Amino acid sequence: MKQHRAGFISIIGKPNVGKSTLMNQLVGEKLSIITSKAQTTRHRIMGIVNGETADFDFQLVYSDTPGIIKPQYELHTAMMEFVHGSIEDADVVLFVTDIYEKYDEEDVIQKLQNCESPIVLIINKIDLASEEAITEKEEHWKTILNPTKILTISALNNVGIDILLNQVLEFLPVHPPYFPKDELTDKPERFFAAEIVREKIFLNYKKEVPYSCEVVVTAFKESDDLIKVSSEIYVERATQRAILLGHKGERIKKVGIEARQEMEQFFGKKVFLEQYIKVEPDWRQKKQKLERFGY
Ligand code: GDP
Ligand code: MG
Repeated sequence: MKQHRAGFISIIGKPNVGKSTLMNQLVGEKLSIITSKAQTTRHRIMGIVNGETADFDFQLVYSDTPGIIKPQYELHTAMMEFVHGSIEDADVVLFVTDIYEKYDEEDVIQKLQNCESPIVLIINKIDLASEEAITEKEEHWKTILNPTKILTISALNNVGIDILLNQVLEFLPVHPPYFPKDELTDKPERFFAAEIVREKIFLNYKKEVPYSCEVVVTAFKESDDLIKVSSEIYVERATQRAILLGHKGERIKKVGIEARQEMEQFFGKKVFLEQYIKVEPDWRQKKQKLERFGY
């Protein structure tokens, strides 16, 4: 029988360096929401890839994690717990930086201090940099972290991803699969429905509004030709509710249309989407609320 290898691969780094973009390239599905705003990934999201090489079968369990930040809210503390957990479990750590990184990853490096698994340092967004700038970054990282391996990629343009995959496979331990072979992710479908709504909110509103929103999918009913999704959007103040709605509800309607279209693409089925906006004062500060939201 062929050998089987399996392991957990954690994608960590500062906000906005391209972790979610990389995760989606590696998994080949849009699992993790990506926007140009920092802190859009709040949970740890796993994506599972099964495959084979000439020598062995494998299962890769990737974890996308929230960007590492200094906690200002209970929410942030919970987010950082996901990061810790994923470093502890990791068989391979993918530490993502980008060419803009201002050498301020002290907090990330600290978290990796006791990590015994191989660390692949990834310099992303090389499409935006000159050869010299990339080389300079590589030299920099060799001196301060001395990672097991340094790779340069463009997650957005799918450059360097194959080499990265081969590197991950090389580090992967011999182990039976952790999840059934037909499972793509550990998260239920309604989680992705909620993430899609949240992404559209991030794309349609400015400043603090998206950060004050949480989306809960309260119903996800699938029939042969249709999925009915009911969602609740929680905000912290009535003023935010008004902003979310917009004049005559036009703005939230746009969010609903965009979210529905994306869900139809993601689930491959017609979707009927309901949205309710609720005010939940200071939900980001309340422990029991956060627990209900799955943090
Ligand atoms: P995360 O916060 O680390 O998960 O970062 P995201 O994956 O959400 O990406 C942040 C932003 O960087 C988005 O606007 C991406 O489109 C962009 N981005 C990611 N990878 C690349 C890349 O290789 N090149 C360029 N030019 N942009 C990228
Ligand atoms: Mg992200």
